[in-house]
Amino acid sequence: MNAPRAPGRRDPHIDGDGWLTSATRLPSPNFEARPDRAVPTLIVVHNISLPPDDFSTDSIARFFLNTLDHDAHPYFDHLRGTRVSAHFVIRRGGAIEQFVSCDERAWHAGVSSFFGRERCNDFSIGIELEGSDHVPFEDAQYDALAALVRIVVKRYPIDALAGHSDIAPGRKTDPGPHFDWQRLRHESALPPSFFPFQSHD
Ligand SMILES: [Zn+2]
Repeated sequence: MNAPRAPGRRDPHIDGDGWLTSATRLPSPNFEARPDRAVPTLIVVHNISLPPDDFSTDSIARFFLNTLDHDAHPYFDHLRGTRVSAHFVIRRGGAIEQFVSCDERAWHAGVSSFFGRERCNDFSIGIELEGSDHVPFEDAQYDALAALVRIVVKRYPIDALAGHSDIAPGRKTDPGPHFDWQRLRHESALPPSFFPFQSHD
């Protein structure tokens, strides 16, 4: 059996402070410490676009950085005062932006429950795909997501992936009907047990 190859300095990895070395860092103030030194065991997959279905702006980053111009679009009006974040955003072209260290608690899941365990933000890493419930995601986004998931799983004791709609059913619909879980499962090469909400037929 071959020994695992030590990561080279240039291989993307999560650094000692919880930041992905290859991501664009956009540190958000919207985070807090994980309670009781909780370690992340869950990855939550989302979609987001602001305004919905418009992929041409930097509004997601502005939203997570509390710098969104709420007068710039009618949809932004109701987001006034909302403080949210995710650890990662994967843009349409596959570029990865990171807003919160994986060691900290980002504010992406809201009221949520994973098989009875509530407050999923405490023990999860949130990954937002720039997208919507209405259009397919890009190939480059699946590639980036699968690579990111593999990197995160190497570093943290993750044992499951879920959609936001899986942990907040009735309240959330993302990542939506176009998200291809089988493709992620295949590309990430993770065992079926990591996908407890998917059927494995
Ligand atoms: Zn979501």
